[in-house]
Amino acid sequence: MKILTLDVGGTAIKTALMNDGVMENPHEMPSEAKQGGPVVLQNIQKIIDACEDFDAIGISTAGQVDSEEGSIIFANENIPNYTGMRLKNILEEKYHKPVFVENDVNAAAIGEAYYGAAVGQKDFICLTYGTGIGGAIIIDGKIYGGAKGVAGEMGHILVHPDGLKCGCGQRGCYEQYASCTALVRNSFEANPEWGSGRIIFKEFYAGSKEAEKIINDWIEEIILGLVSLVHIFNPSCIVLGGGIMNEQYIIDRVNGRLQERIMPSYRCVEVKHAKLGNNAGLYGMLATVQQKIK
Ligand SMILES: [Zn+2]
Repeated sequence: MKILTLDVGGTAIKTALMNDGVMENPHEMPSEAKQGGPVVLQNIQKIIDACEDFDAIGISTAGQVDSEEGSIIFANENIPNYTGMRLKNILEEKYHKPVFVENDVNAAAIGEAYYGAAVGQKDFICLTYGTGIGGAIIIDGKIYGGAKGVAGEMGHILVHPDGLKCGCGQRGCYEQYASCTALVRNSFEANPEWGSGRIIFKEFYAGSKEAEKIINDWIEEIILGLVSLVHIFNPSCIVLGGGIMNEQYIIDRVNGRLQERIMPSYRCVEVKHAKLGNNAGLYGMLATVQQKIK
């Protein structure tokens, strides 16, 4: 079976043909998301038009997705006029092939579950640390979507009541303290020359005690959210994604500190970094389509 997979983000649309599960011709094009949903849709269609032979389409996309209807429930200002777009209907009418749509964080989690860091795990959670923090909950091998399919917004767990203001309207959300953006903000405040995650880790590895403190304080913020999640979901594994998580130091320290903070009966949990990187969404759509049409 040939499944055309796409991963629609704020900057690029990544795509690859999955031919009997083997990735062929991975490439990407600008999504032109700032120009709005209709332009993104045109770019999706350009990719599909360029693919001569496929049996189904799987699309992972930014935004909150109704995966049953294959539509965008809500997209923020990163993709204007994308909210409400019925991707599945539009593309099935045009191409006469089955189309499946999933939120990008969920798709990446499914990818990790079937082809990456969480192979063999049935109950786990996935968090991605970047500008904000995204999350996905996998229960019994399936995404837990909640009543409207939008469960897993772990970035908005309240960790510091009356704390920093968040884009969601609340104060003190997890992503204001534990995202990659928060680390960079704290680093920059300490030293205006430390303006990226890469630089602060370079300083840390070079022996800077100040950089070490900033990083360790930030890791405590990461753990704050994870402690609650572990006690709610009793996961066997937590997969941490986002480029910054390639720093093994973070994974090791989170593993150690988390075990100290949680109750003994939850200590089976293992923290791992995501394995599939930028391709997690594409593999997730491969697994999603395989499940839906087998
Ligand atoms: Zn928030």
